[in-house]
Amino acid sequence: MRRMCVLAGCLLLLLAGCAPQTEYTHTFFAMDTVCSLRLPQKGEQEGEELAQAVQQLVAQLEGLWSKTLPDSEVSRLNAGESLTLEGRTAELLARSAELCTQTGGAFSPLLGRLTALWDVQNAVRPPQQEQIEALLPVPDADLLQNAAQPGFSLPEGACLDLGGIAKGAAGDAVAQLLRAEGVQSALVVMGGQVGCLGTKPDGRPWQVAVRDPDGEQGESLGTLLLQDTFAVSSGDYERYFEQDGVRYSHILDPQTGSPAQTDLRGVTVVCEDATKADALSTALFVLGSEGALELWRSLGGFEAVLVTADGRLLLTEGLEETFVFSGQERGIVLETVDQG
Ligand code: AMP
Ligand code: MG
Repeated sequence: MRRMCVLAGCLLLLLAGCAPQTEYTHTFFAMDTVCSLRLPQKGEQEGEELAQAVQQLVAQLEGLWSKTLPDSEVSRLNAGESLTLEGRTAELLARSAELCTQTGGAFSPLLGRLTALWDVQNAVRPPQQEQIEALLPVPDADLLQNAAQPGFSLPEGACLDLGGIAKGAAGDAVAQLLRAEGVQSALVVMGGQVGCLGTKPDGRPWQVAVRDPDGEQGESLGTLLLQDTFAVSSGDYERYFEQDGVRYSHILDPQTGSPAQTDLRGVTVVCEDATKADALSTALFVLGSEGALELWRSLGGFEAVLVTADGRLLLTEGLEETFVFSGQERGIVLETVDQG
């Protein structure tokens, strides 16, 4: 009898070993992009509760930071109102000002009038050069340092567009929420931003593909093996229109007021701080490869993958062990960059 029990126990263990790992997944649309959540080792009920909490948090932040929702704090500031801002908004505006300075103005949160003029998502041709020049120079972001003061308002002509940083700030907030709920392993995708909490349940790192700017979605130049960090990508393949063979992407160069035209096609920033990663992904794209690597050397605290228009993939040395290159199949040459 005892032997039978032991045998039955072994059989159960074997079956349990073969059983698929539970994983709760959830997809939703927010911040103008598709978001998805993978929660390994979470069953239906716990997974659903966590996913709802995450979705609500992202919707709440979008309700503060959207430039299209008319009641958001950003829209109300853009309409000239004086507001005592939510702590999260004041913090994000101050952070935006700081990142604007750190990137020499390549990341600018006050491009709202220019992004509205270009309206890259719906446009078929560029605006007139005089219309662009009338909106230059872009106002100095330093004034956002005072965003926590009661009755804060924007000066005449200043217009916020947090599209280059809001997803990052939301990613940080989601990671904070999940950690506070005791989640040790999760993958949070928001468009071109991937947040990796811990590792996969088997202890191996999460795999994050670096997209081929010339390929379809899902065609990659390699894979980053990541844990407890974010990978945020920007590129000219995301949102753009073309006229006379010129591609006009949604990332503007604040100096010229027009879509950045550099030697880069795509940028992926790896950094534990998603807010910084998001702003930097936009800024590095504007700076071009030389300026981007200069900023990597001087600012620090992040790593990057840069894909150039002439078929090179530049990998900063901190990613040497964490990147599996597969771009040779697509005619791309890998170059590792050191602090030099
Ligand atoms: P991302 O996809 O993170 O690179 O952000 C692109 C979005 O950020 C655009 O759709 C605009 O809303 C906004 N944006 C465009 N150019 C800039 C820039 N140079 N600095 C900050 N935000 C920008
Ligand atoms: Mg960005």
